[in-house]
Amino acid sequence: MGTIADNYKRLRDSISPEVAIIVASKTRTPEEVKEVIEAGATNIGENYVYPEAVNKYKLLGDTAKKVRWHLIGPLQKNKINKALPIFDMIQTVDSSRILRDIDKRLEKAGKSVIPILLEINSGGEETKSGFLPDFSLIKDALLEIEELKHIRIKGLMTMGPAFGNPEDARPYFKLTRELFEKLGDIRTVNSEMKILSMGMSNSYRVAIEEGSNMVRIGSLIFGMRT
Ligand SMILES: *Cc1c(COP(=O)(O)O)cnc(C)c1O
Repeated sequence: MGTIADNYKRLRDSISPEVAIIVASKTRTPEEVKEVIEAGATNIGENYVYPEAVNKYKLLGDTAKKVRWHLIGPLQKNKINKALPIFDMIQTVDSSRILRDIDKRLEKAGKSVIPILLEINSGGEETKSGFLPDFSLIKDALLEIEELKHIRIKGLMTMGPAFGNPEDARPYFKLTRELFEKLGDIRTVNSEMKILSMGMSNSYRVAIEEGSNMVRIGSLIFGMRT
């Protein structure tokens, strides 16, 4: 592996500019995150609101404000007030209840709207969060939250089951993309299906082939997590 900056640039050059790269930065130091931002990264993903993301954001100061921050780990109700001032997008919403909680608190965080992705539990795994990949279930949720003024549903995010061989993840990416396309026909006031966030270091190529336009990459840029 080269330096963090080299790894990021090589990855950025190797995939279509239409595919956004979220640099998954959990467990990485503020210095490492700074290096990747200086190499041109524009989107940082964090899993843990507090203390990790809050502290990193604060320590990075003006550098933090140059990029968009994505929450890619679960959001608990008691962390909403800490999360909203930092994150520009929340990718892990899995219930209309949490959307109501976000909507209620957003103005206090100094924002008028926040982009949201609905997380899809595409493998239907009991231990994972996310909406089950069921069209009517999600359609009903979209209709139910239509009156929320501060929420913009922008698309879907999925992890899919973890596999050694990325080909094994393909059916779950395909399933999520089909759901994404079908939901694209549903027009509600505060939703539009534009972003499909899927693919990580070992699976991003397959995910892009299956229609992903946002990949979340950590270890390929920073090296393995210890
Ligand atoms: C850690 C993480 C990633 C990136 O994983 P790598 O295998 O390090 O690329 C992507 N998405 C989510 C939700 C993560 O937690």
